[in-house]
Amino acid sequence: MNPAPGQPASTHEAEDLSAEDLAAWLEILRWHCEAGMDAAIGENPRNRFAQQTPPPAAAASPAAPLPSQEAMLPAEPQKGSGPKGSSPKGPSPQGSGPKGQGRARAEPAENAGILQARAAAQAAVSLQELRAALEHFDGCDLKRSARSLVFADGNPEARVMLIGEAPGAEEDRQGLPFVGRSGQLLDRMLAAIGLDRSSAYITNILPWRPHGNRNPTAAEIELLRPFIERHIQLAAPELLLLVGGVSAKALLHTTTGILKLRGSWVQCRISEQDFPALPTFHPAYLLRRPADKALAWRDFLSLKQRLAGN
Ligand code: URA
Repeated sequence: MNPAPGQPASTHEAEDLSAEDLAAWLEILRWHCEAGMDAAIGENPRNRFAQQTPPPAAAASPAAPLPSQEAMLPAEPQKGSGPKGSSPKGPSPQGSGPKGQGRARAEPAENAGILQARAAAQAAVSLQELRAALEHFDGCDLKRSARSLVFADGNPEARVMLIGEAPGAEEDRQGLPFVGRSGQLLDRMLAAIGLDRSSAYITNILPWRPHGNRNPTAAEIELLRPFIERHIQLAAPELLLLVGGVSAKALLHTTTGILKLRGSWVQCRISEQDFPALPTFHPAYLLRRPADKALAWRDFLSLKQRLAGN
């Protein structure tokens, strides 16, 4: 192939590409889009592995800028439990420095971010105010790479509130949760038990898309936890459907996997208040493992029965 991928010499040369080269380039582009790399965030590639971490003195200085959330991520590897179906995991967030250093330096700032999130979320006394609080919250780097705040969809008065993981590319484009492929499956599953977006309320643990569709990190979940917990308090649903392992683990404060959690009603405790919650599979997982739709169907029937008062 000519020129070599990754080294386009100029747009004029691009015009001279053979049909074969053009097809190869389109294939590379398609691969990037499928991997979630659908937005350019800089003109030139940056080798973050080659970047120096600032000396401790600079990091401790009050004048030094806060480290980004990505630099504050815990050193543990990403969980593979995210049900983002077809999307491969994105780049390791630990790429910005040697293991452990980022975390050690970042903890105070991370706590400050959580405190700020908690104060902002608690101050909201309506869903509109909570949405506005998120719009004004600048403590999360995800906001910078996302196109939209994906707050919620459906009926906030509904008896059941569904909570997924985080917006994907289509959700980020439209500013609404579960509107991509997995959302279409979710809509069909809801329809099968007589529900739709006028009788269900839908949101996610994270309101901004993690770039490249990677799984949310533990740090991101903890930072934004005050908002989703306040969201549940303000919507005050009768029942929660925890859609996928990330949502179930976060809201139930457990490391147990969704294979074990799904199908059993549990209490989701938020500030001394219990919300009956049913963990179930994420539709993106079901798109990959259609055989498990039978189990999901059982969960949805259980939800239907519960709503019917049985
Ligand atoms: N997956 C989720 O968990 N939430 C969405 O909104 C879309 C896909």
